[in-house]
Amino acid sequence: MPSPGPSPRATVRRLPARASYEPEQIRAILAEGFLCHLGFQRDGQPFVIPTLYAPAGDRLYLHGSPASRMLRALREGIEVCVSVTLVDGLVIARSHFHHSVNYRSVVVFGRAREVTDAEEKRAALAALVDHVVPGRGRDARPPSERELRATTVLALPLDEASAKLRTGGPLDDEPDYALPVWAGVLPLRLRPDPPQADARLLPGVEPPAYLRAYARPRAG
Ligand SMILES: Cc1cc2nc3c(=O)[nH]c(=O)nc-3n(C[C@H](O)[C@H](O)[C@H](O)COP(=O)(O)OP(=O)(O)OC[C@H]3O[C@@H](n4cnc5c(N)ncnc54)[C@H](O)[C@@H]3O)c2cc1C
Repeated sequence: MPSPGPSPRATVRRLPARASYEPEQIRAILAEGFLCHLGFQRDGQPFVIPTLYAPAGDRLYLHGSPASRMLRALREGIEVCVSVTLVDGLVIARSHFHHSVNYRSVVVFGRAREVTDAEEKRAALAALVDHVVPGRGRDARPPSERELRATTVLALPLDEASAKLRTGGPLDDEPDYALPVWAGVLPLRLRPDPPQADARLLPGVEPPAYLRAYARPRAG
């Protein structure tokens, strides 16, 4: 986690009052999200790839096929940049210019290492399942040896990270408050619809409580 201050590349420049480098804040955002965008460069070509992650203490676990370009590149220890965004609301202003978004986001820089220790690899894969669907790890079958070999797991340290947060209503120009147009915030959050059973589900198997009550833990 960042300490005592952010590195130059992890320092928020615009609207720095919205920045946070507090490990608790960064952890809370990472705990609520489960999807990141991972940026890296390969032969001069930038890639930004959406992928799942699981936070675990001082690191993020990432996983995928050993054949994936992203995983092959990362296991070499190249510099990567990961971002996670939670959208909390649409900020509806009186002018085009001041429309905005309420959000909490995190950017992490670093080099990932491949997880080769079998125990850590199994724990990381269980953490990925449980991070996306809390409670699922104990119900679903753990990976076989073949499935373990068919999965690359990487650990990215969280020691160079920043968060940025926007809250509140629109910040309009003073003369625009006289305009007769609605302004405010349209809150947004992730809410599931009822679970849809698989066509080959065994008779009598009901959706577990953690799916029926699925919610991302709301931070802050
Ligand atoms: C949902 C959403 C929508 C946005 N829409 C816009 C938009 O339309 N136009 C726009 O200019 N900006 C937008 N932003 C803000 C944007 O993410 C940057 O913060 C902004 O471009 C200015 O950052 P900077 O000049 O400080 O960035 P840079 O100099 O590019 O960044 C410096 C460092 O600051 C940190 N940082 C920058 N942004 C963030 C962030 N959002 N979260 C965590 N760390 C960060 C990183 O460590 C980065 O390396 C949006 C953000 C979010 C989450």
